[in-house]
Amino acid sequence: MGKPEKIKSARVSVLGAARSGISVAKLLKSQGAVVFVSDKKPQEEAAQHIQVLESLGVSYEFGSHSDRIFDADFIVVSPGVPSNSNLVQHALKVGLNVYSEVEVASWFCRAPIVAITGSNGKTTTTTLIGKIFEKAGWKTVVAGNIGFPISDYVLDVDENSAAVLEVSSFQLDHIDTFKPKAAVLLNITPDHLDRYENYQAYVNSKFRIFMNQSAGDFSIYNHDDEAVNKHGEGLPTVRLPFSAKEKISNGGFVEHDKVYLVEDGKPNFLIDSKEIKIRGVHNLYNSIASALAARALGVSAEVIADALREFPGVEHRLEPVRELNGVRYVNDSKATNVDAVWYALGSFESPIVLIAGGKDKGNDYSPLFDLVKKKVRAMVLIGQAAQKMQKEFSDKTKCVLATTMEDAVSKARREAKQGDVVLLSPACASFDMFQDYEHRGREFKRLVMEL
Ligand code: ADP
Repeated sequence: MGKPEKIKSARVSVLGAARSGISVAKLLKSQGAVVFVSDKKPQEEAAQHIQVLESLGVSYEFGSHSDRIFDADFIVVSPGVPSNSNLVQHALKVGLNVYSEVEVASWFCRAPIVAITGSNGKTTTTTLIGKIFEKAGWKTVVAGNIGFPISDYVLDVDENSAAVLEVSSFQLDHIDTFKPKAAVLLNITPDHLDRYENYQAYVNSKFRIFMNQSAGDFSIYNHDDEAVNKHGEGLPTVRLPFSAKEKISNGGFVEHDKVYLVEDGKPNFLIDSKEIKIRGVHNLYNSIASALAARALGVSAEVIADALREFPGVEHRLEPVRELNGVRYVNDSKATNVDAVWYALGSFESPIVLIAGGKDKGNDYSPLFDLVKKKVRAMVLIGQAAQKMQKEFSDKTKCVLATTMEDAVSKARREAKQGDVVLLSPACASFDMFQDYEHRGREFKRLVMEL
């Protein structure tokens, strides 16, 4: 299947009029398709999108989905519409192809695609790979789940560019011919279990990033993640595993704090891990994966090493905020699951005062117990999850409840001693108290700067 022979005058229904939906509608319309956009959010909330659709001459409906959506040659589904929703299931039942926005955009992409997925580290790694290509002088677009739909940029890139794409499992659920030149799978840990039938379904969705790759393509995957490695070993591509734990015979690894990339069976020194600016073992993984992707497409090791020395990381991911009275304040608001917090705690030598909590997604906190016992001087707990977390952690460390972020910052300050780190790394979503994790992180930073 994949791209229909004639996009011109093909009838397409786009489900979901958020950013990527609007962008793909625009792209398809520019290629001559007849596009219909359908979203169940009330018309009053969609004024801005409606204006765009009107100006494009794309027909639309808001408030509910009518049967008109099935009167199409294929359907494009936004990441916000669950695969197990009645709509998608019905479309599939009546024999309609259902594609995600990255699938559709990839039909028009002349640039080699570097695609990145995983439960954690996607945005950091995508941004870093983009920086490496830019440093190497390539025309580069960085897009996808990171906030800029690839449909907006895909017509601007050519064979001599790089398209670096962050892809979520929701996008991967509906790919068909999407074929990255280099595909990166960082890790898989439980997340989004509300959207998948079970954990294996989520894992399978992540593996789809390699699904269409063939002999000349590069598959970059985490050797230290058992399930990921097992899958990777069976791929028919150029396999480039990465490990932070052991020396491996292909891909990339770390030995005595030195990072090596294996080429022609020979380990070549790339960089001393202490020179990499983003800290923590998780970022070592992100860095080696990025290096392999860039190297695979021909960027020199020198340029890669320079980029690793310079790249400061992304806002809200273990972002240093301030040092006050010998206490460092760090914003890791993007840590919305337990695994991210596990790595955050492991990234500091000093005792930690941890601000955590928010909207619990049915979390199992037990992977944190040992680390909290060892490293956390006190936990300051906020949001809906505060009581549950207090119950689970109070025999591991001192737990203090706080009502607002302001209260949390002030209590954390009180608990911290000289040399400590005050770390916001919530393990939870933010929607009970904030618009999103960015809002939460900005509030934290503002309050810290006011101390
Ligand atoms: P994503 O886009 O997949 O959500 P981010 O780069 O935004 O990933 O990072 C999300 C959170 O996960 C941050 O708290 C960050 O510190 C942490 N993190 C980053 N890379 C990794 C990794 N490789 N493994 C585990 N946690 C990570």
